[in-house]
Amino acid sequence: MPASPQHVLFLFIDGIGLGPNRPSNPMAQLGAHWARLAQHPGWTVQTPIVDTPTHVFHPVDATLAIEGLPQSGTGQASLFSGINCAQRAGRHYGPFPHSSSKPVLAAHNLFQRVQPGLSPGDCAFANAYPPVFFKKRARRNRWTVTTLCSRQAGVRLRSTDDVRHNRALPADLVGHAWHKHLDIAIPQRSAAHAGRVLYRIMQQHRLTLFEYYETDKAGHGRSELSISTILHRLDALLGSFIDACSLDTDLLLICSDHGNLEAPNQKPHTRHPVPLVAYGCGAHAFRSATSITDVTPALCTLLGGSLSSHQPTPQ
Ligand SMILES: [Zn+2]
Repeated sequence: MPASPQHVLFLFIDGIGLGPNRPSNPMAQLGAHWARLAQHPGWTVQTPIVDTPTHVFHPVDATLAIEGLPQSGTGQASLFSGINCAQRAGRHYGPFPHSSSKPVLAAHNLFQRVQPGLSPGDCAFANAYPPVFFKKRARRNRWTVTTLCSRQAGVRLRSTDDVRHNRALPADLVGHAWHKHLDIAIPQRSAAHAGRVLYRIMQQHRLTLFEYYETDKAGHGRSELSISTILHRLDALLGSFIDACSLDTDLLLICSDHGNLEAPNQKPHTRHPVPLVAYGCGAHAFRSATSITDVTPALCTLLGGSLSSHQPTPQ
């Protein structure tokens, strides 16, 4: 049984798959800090696996044994519950959670599952949302998978004031988008600063989740940022975060819901496997994961949460 980390950051990066190692794949040649996490300059399906007690890097399946292209609603619900929500829905569905995923998340989402082993307030969701987000969601009661998981588990959704006090990050990591599109006065900061903020938040909790989705938008050709800018920002964030990490007490976990960015010439998602990275204390617990549904159960085992593998009755 691997040692249990004091602090875990689950960095969920939407829409990154491990595609072929060829020049059209922007993940075939990445920055220095991505490379540290793969012990290789590229994140592709040909990248050799890493399997040591404090470092795991390998592909996991995101197709969930269902035909068609994986989608964020069922993919994220499966990733964050450990239960195959595409199978329950009978198809891939997204971007919002399918109706059949909501009861699964209500009872089995990662925050719910780890909380029995933790103290109240030990879980955090480090994304910040602007006021317009709360207004829109309240009107339609339509939540993304991660915000739904947080609400269901009583984990606070963070907002503008949290960004100002380094208690949360805006979706673009640096604050430009809120400034430019929403006219919200928040500090403009570097992506390296964002990595340090995430580290600080993580140190105050046992489990911190952060969602980055500009990668998926860019894969669809819908981001105003270039793929290169996005990958550079993440590289800077990873660098400052990893530099601060202690391999004795901290664990960085990275996974995705489906491929997309690695095939920029193709606008929809891909059926490629996605990367699973576990770096730091307890990483070995993830060495046997073969599907995105294996990630949350391994995390729960590591943090002493609910081991229940009981599946809710199919609908
Ligand atoms: Zn997408």
